Amino acid sequence: LLQLSVPLNFIGFVYREIRQGLTDIEQMFDLLEVEAEVKDRPDATTLQIRQGAIAFKDVHFAYDENRPILKGLSFEVPAGKTVAIVGPSGAGKSTISRLLYRFYDIQQGSITIDGQDVRAVTQKSLRTAIGMVPQDTVLFNDTIAYNIRYGRLSATDEEVSAAAEVAQIGTFLRNLPHGYDTMVGERGLKLSGGEKQRVAIARTILKAPPILILDEATSALDTTTEQEIQSALDIVSKNRTTLVIAHRLSTVIGADEIIVLRDGKIAERGTHQGLLEADGLYASMWNRQREATQAEEHLRKVRDSD
Ligand code: ATP
Repeated sequence: LLQLSVPLNFIGFVYREIRQGLTDIEQMFDLLEVEAEVKDRPDATTLQIRQGAIAFKDVHFAYDENRPILKGLSFEVPAGKTVAIVGPSGAGKSTISRLLYRFYDIQQGSITIDGQDVRAVTQKSLRTAIGMVPQDTVLFNDTIAYNIRYGRLSATDEEVSAAAEVAQIGTFLRNLPHGYDTMVGERGLKLSGGEKQRVAIARTILKAPPILILDEATSALDTTTEQEIQSALDIVSKNRTTLVIAHRLSTVIGADEIIVLRDGKIAERGTHQGLLEADGLYASMWNRQREATQAEEHLRKVRDSD
């Protein structure tokens, strides 16, 4: 009996090992599937940034071939300028940022940076050149200092705190009992959406990329937080080619050009003032949002006076 139990245990051990191995392989395939969406061409070159000008030419894209999302989109973000994309929910705004970062390949047209097609360069060089401030930043279960330094691992402590100050989160961090050594993430301090976004901005300041994508949070932020984030963003986007995916209109007033997207096409384009004067879709979105903000403020006052 004893003699038999050893090999049986052993078989159990081997079985568990194999099963674990299979699960790992399955997980690996899951990961690969996500990654396999786009691949570097065998002859992929390193993206050479000269000025950092972005051009979308007649871009057609669908996640699912039966449902086109972008139907022939053309626009440029000249070097150092800021272009904001606005439009109704589901219009394809965030999709544009994912295509520039090449999470997916387009079906027709081209997306170029300084004349180089994003499909012809390595993903590594593309993603090194672009700083992305996403809607929802994932924080590592580590210190806040590590989370900021992730933008550039060689950054000194002084550079990390300087970036945090510019990102308007320095005061908050300095006042934490453990300061920059505070653990954050799932097992640490939970940060609000606005705080996380400022951590992402601090990371991006350290990374100092020539091209910036700001995918604004959909969630409403209070006015003070919004203004703090806005001034941090104004600093990072200065003299950088910036594409703003705007879900709120207050952030786009200063953009060099605003593109209004509807049904996968450009419905209107111009400056804030020009679009208000044109009195079209943008003007009606603007008025609606202003009314909503006023209603919210009124509600808050009523509540506060109780
Ligand atoms: P919002 O302002 O609500 O964030 P948006 O304009 O940024 O909207 P996108 O996120 O670009 O919209 O999505 C455009 C459309 O593509 C939506 O109808 C969405 O359901 C669809 N979509 C987005 N991501 C995927 C995906 N991974 N697979 C399939 N469809 C998707």
